Amino acid sequence: MSAIRCCRPSAKPAPPLPRPPFRGPLGERIHREICARCWDEWLRHQILLINHFGLDPRKREARDFLYGQIRAVLFDEGEVAEIDTSLKGTIR
Ligand SMILES: [Zn+2]
Repeated sequence: MSAIRCCRPSAKPAPPLPRPPFRGPLGERIHREICARCWDEWLRHQILLINHFGLDPRKREARDFLYGQIRAVLFDEGEVAEIDTSLKGTIR
């Protein structure tokens, strides 16, 4: 598998994802522009977000929030949600 130039700042060329992580334009963009290592980092961050904000990924608003955070964290488009451990389980 050839390396891609991951679009994240400071990222080195790294293996791409074998396929888009989910359907739709954002999933395809991640497949094109984000390496497997950065996606793994995101998945670990996503677990923190789900636990911290008490998200149910089956619900549309939770998915919209997470897609927004993918854009913010991986593409630097939008505001990254702070995980404040003193506010555990609440959505701001
Ligand atoms: Zn990367």
